[in-house]
Amino acid sequence: MSSSATDVRNVIIVGSGPAGLTAAIYAARANLNPLIIEGGFPNLPGGQLMITTEVENYPGFAEGIMGPDLMMAMRAQAERVGAEFVTENVDRVDFTSEPFYVRTDSGQEFHGKTVIITTGASAKWLGIPSETALNGHGVSACATCDGFFFRGKEVVVVGGGDTALEEATYLARLCSKVTIVHRRDSLRGSQIMQQRAIDNPKIEFAWNSVIEEIHDVSAGKVTGITLRNIHTDETRFLATDAVFIAIGHTPNTKLFEGQIEMDPAGYILTLPGRPLTNIPGVFAAGDVQDTMYKQAVTAAGSGCMAAIEAERHLHNHGGAH
Ligand code: NAP
Repeated sequence: MSSSATDVRNVIIVGSGPAGLTAAIYAARANLNPLIIEGGFPNLPGGQLMITTEVENYPGFAEGIMGPDLMMAMRAQAERVGAEFVTENVDRVDFTSEPFYVRTDSGQEFHGKTVIITTGASAKWLGIPSETALNGHGVSACATCDGFFFRGKEVVVVGGGDTALEEATYLARLCSKVTIVHRRDSLRGSQIMQQRAIDNPKIEFAWNSVIEEIHDVSAGKVTGITLRNIHTDETRFLATDAVFIAIGHTPNTKLFEGQIEMDPAGYILTLPGRPLTNIPGVFAAGDVQDTMYKQAVTAAGSGCMAAIEAERHLHNHGGAH
């Protein structure tokens, strides 16, 4: 299926995390028949909550909810109110003329009077060759996905932010010991998460340390790491069965380079407090434009705002159909 000049969508949403699905729910309920291009292999529709365990801070779930369950519920809600889904990746956009052009990796072409970008952010990697070589063989960026394979074993988590602390706390429930490797001597994560990790008898810290190498590439599995103290330059071997990288995220905006204004880190620039980009009719919501909060609930809130802005834009520019 490809769109023709007569097949111009009111709203095309690119991405299907909390921001995209909330935008879809609002746009569908405003009768805008949104099309949501939710992503396909190798991307995981649903965004980062699909690789999260328990979510205790999304309002409405007194007992907490598993990340994937929350996303499946949001998707079902968007579908029920009439959002149309395409399970593919967008590989090209053109925002230089209206209606805006969006193409998927299978070659499907769409045109939209408005576009809402909600492509989120992806995990960062250290960038050392042994990390790449052992990815999927003991190196992971997702404790929820891979922690199970290392139950009863000793593991390492890299990073000092909330993600690292959350992953370490989760892994401590499964593993015999968790060492958090952090490049400084103080953590960046929130006070409550810090305290939880510090109080956990199974969690240890390797301060001021970076991973020089992950062993053993020739064995095809993780057996240990070489740690370097950044102050003394001393190195030491630490035996471990897995390395979980939790050092932050990169916004998924490569696709939009040259099409829309971004900050130096690649986050889409929006008007403070509003989802408006430099292109009228193109909106951005969720982690793709959020360098500050990055929460599921803030992403959902900004998705709602983007849908309302898209509706206003359509109203002010000849209306929806
Ligand atoms: P982050 O706050 O940016 O922390 C990244 C951590 O990784 C920092 O400690 C950083 O060290 C370290 N790091 C970065 N690049 C590195 C490298 N190349 N080598 C070694 N270490 C490196 O990222 P995040 O932890 O993913 O959190 C992002 C946002 O999401 C935060 O606002 C956080 O509060 C939020 N979050 C919240 C929850 C929750 O509330 N449940 C859970 C997860 C995330 P430095 O400290 O030295 O910069």
